[in-house]
Amino acid sequence: MPSQEQILDALKQVKFPGLSRDIVSFGFVHDVRVDGGNVAFTIRFQTENPNAGTQIAKDAEAAVRKVEGVRDVKVSVDVAPRTGAATTTGGQRGILEGVKYKIAVASGKGGVGKSTVSTNLALSLRSLGFSVGLLDADIYGPSQQMMLGITGRPQIDETDEKIMPMENHGVKTMSLGLITEPDTPVIWRGPMVMKALDQFLTDVKWGELDFMVIDLPPGTGDAQLTLTQKVPLTGAIVVTTPQDVALIDARKGLAMFRKVNVPLLGIIENMSYYICKHCGEREEIFGHGGGRRTAEMLGVPFLGEVPIDPKVVVGGDTGEPIVVLDPSSAAAAAFREVARQIVAQVESGMPGHTHGHQHHEHEHAHTH
Ligand code: ADP
Repeated sequence: MPSQEQILDALKQVKFPGLSRDIVSFGFVHDVRVDGGNVAFTIRFQTENPNAGTQIAKDAEAAVRKVEGVRDVKVSVDVAPRTGAATTTGGQRGILEGVKYKIAVASGKGGVGKSTVSTNLALSLRSLGFSVGLLDADIYGPSQQMMLGITGRPQIDETDEKIMPMENHGVKTMSLGLITEPDTPVIWRGPMVMKALDQFLTDVKWGELDFMVIDLPPGTGDAQLTLTQKVPLTGAIVVTTPQDVALIDARKGLAMFRKVNVPLLGIIENMSYYICKHCGEREEIFGHGGGRRTAEMLGVPFLGEVPIDPKVVVGGDTGEPIVVLDPSSAAAAAFREVARQIVAQVESGMPGHTHGHQHHEHEHAHTH
């Protein structure tokens, strides 16, 4: 008589259609019962891909039949449409309707590089051939106009009184920094903040776009929560640095998205390590692997580590993000890798799940 373990081992050979990860490690297999030669189990998951259930059931049955001693296989499939904000249940109708994938970039606290990640992700997606918008929702410290090197004021389309987004490096953008005087501290009270954001979502002529990257305000307060409920997000990325305090805050960010059913596309660890200018070796200033461990612990994909690079600061200040300023740098490669993983996730129809095989552009040198 086959053991439960043998059955699970066989099911580990079954991949989710289009992905290289198996259904057991995804946690889709439940209630495995073995009674003599009779095997029964349930496959349960949420998906936006309507054919996935049938295909998986067929593959699973075939895999289990190959186990010695198995006579009869009964597969129950329990597939539900995604209840997350990525479907019609989340967000308000009419918000960013022409945008296919809406990706929020969040952080538990300020200064970890959330805006830097947003800009470089937007540009990397653009360089992969997608049409991309970048919405600066970080209304307390709007910086996207500076990072993208945009000056001047947005124009109003007189036919419908809508705001035209501004554009540089092929990315359309809108930021409060474009409509307020530079160097004026913006002290917005909650309702005013939300009103400004509402305008960005509904009164800006974004047009048809493949991706909208939304640079959220740092933290996990009301403004963030309201926004994540208003916009039907495809998924969210949480940016952290390797320090423990930042990781604790990152967890809060992840918990926030879980609460509102927004799929988590993953964690990215910024300012992760430093490549010594003189010897070219990698120095792990804040310790190693915190972001990856946190991602594993919480069961979300790890999107990669971005090194500290002084050119990131220069590029941010001069409107030439690192992927443009120095495309061959390790930091630029890390950002491009994040973009590739995001594309793979959203196009698989299973945002929030890792692909078994992760391609890395660069293998880094060992630590000291
Ligand atoms: P946040 O949006 O989280 O507040 P920013 O993206 O504004 O953070 O980054 C804060 C500062 O850190 C900026 O001056 C930025 O240029 C710098 N910075 C971000 N990422 C890196 C990096 N990988 N290497 C060096 N400096 C960085």
